[in-house]
Amino acid sequence: MTTTAITNIAGLVTNDPALGDGSPLGLIENAAVVIDGETVAWVGPAAKAPAADTVFDAAGRAVIPGFVDSHSHLVFAGDRTAEFNARMSGRSYSAGGIRTTVAATRAATDAELEANLLRHLDEARRQGTTTFETKSGYGLTVADEARALRIAAAHTEEVTYLGAHIVSPDYAEDPAGYVDLVTGEMLTACAPYARWVDVFCEKGAFDGDQARAILTAGAAAGLIPRVHANQLSYGPGVQLAVELEAASADHCTHLTDADVDALAQAADTTVATLLPGAEFSTRAQWPDARRLIDAGATVALSTDCNPGSSYTSSMPFCIALAVRDMRMTPDEALWSATAGGARALRRSDVGTVTPGARADLALLDAPSHVHLAYRPGVPLVSAVWQRGVRAV
Ligand SMILES: [Zn+2]
Repeated sequence: MTTTAITNIAGLVTNDPALGDGSPLGLIENAAVVIDGETVAWVGPAAKAPAADTVFDAAGRAVIPGFVDSHSHLVFAGDRTAEFNARMSGRSYSAGGIRTTVAATRAATDAELEANLLRHLDEARRQGTTTFETKSGYGLTVADEARALRIAAAHTEEVTYLGAHIVSPDYAEDPAGYVDLVTGEMLTACAPYARWVDVFCEKGAFDGDQARAILTAGAAAGLIPRVHANQLSYGPGVQLAVELEAASADHCTHLTDADVDALAQAADTTVATLLPGAEFSTRAQWPDARRLIDAGATVALSTDCNPGSSYTSSMPFCIALAVRDMRMTPDEALWSATAGGARALRRSDVGTVTPGARADLALLDAPSHVHLAYRPGVPLVSAVWQRGVRAV
């Protein structure tokens, strides 16, 4: 196995409180990392680094764990430029816009969908993302949902069955029939490709009882629940996520005190995943990250990359929004975009730079991770290692 030492790191974020300065970020100054094959072999002060086969000089810049983007929708075709343009001209967002993407996705070939997915994964990787979750939800037929998941599963281990994105237009007059399909034949066809089951629990999509039926059926098929919860309005999504021990409740924009309490009580089980790209792109109210963190909830940050409500693949952009508009500190935002995302995917091998972890790292053209929020919109990621291999 070949070893590589990354030396002369001004500030290394390990997310291991046992390392470095004792903070949650486990920050080490003047650090080095040694990679052995696909994993991190050693972390510590550069002066004490063991010899390695090759040396990469970080030249006084910062190294962070690769971002863990735990929520995206990347199997789709077409775009929604016209809808965005209209919305920015004063029309409010409704879940119905998803139908535009459903029509384009159904009409696309497998090759077109895969090429589009790969283009977005590459775009995200260039911005430091090394672990991707992605969902179905733009097919809404048995064949189209299974196809989306099969394509996704070829490129990421974190695949989510979201047949319950909206009620299929084919079942507009029979939503109960669509829930039967999602919990029956469609689930059977999709479960082999997926790790997770998700539902859009929202007015205009699926109510609490429907969401419960969908998540319970998914769990019975071996999938772990996650929930699109409380994005556009108050509702039962967060409480349902906590009750069913979902890995995450995603969005969490409209929360009652009881919702916040529930997420705080479930901090070891259900992560509150905040997706500020959606609020940015729809000019909506920001999720209150400060309220959740102060209550004791575990918070992750993710892009929600999708062609309708958040067409960004940039975790650095989400970090900047979280710091500027959601009252997170730069340290909290970095943790939530790395270790927080890993928690939301129930992964312990990513989101940290600690011996034994997967060697997923991003080098910043900056001396500190704080620059991700301090210098918004600047392409600071200058190198990425994925499973120990230079990917960017
Ligand atoms: Zn989403």
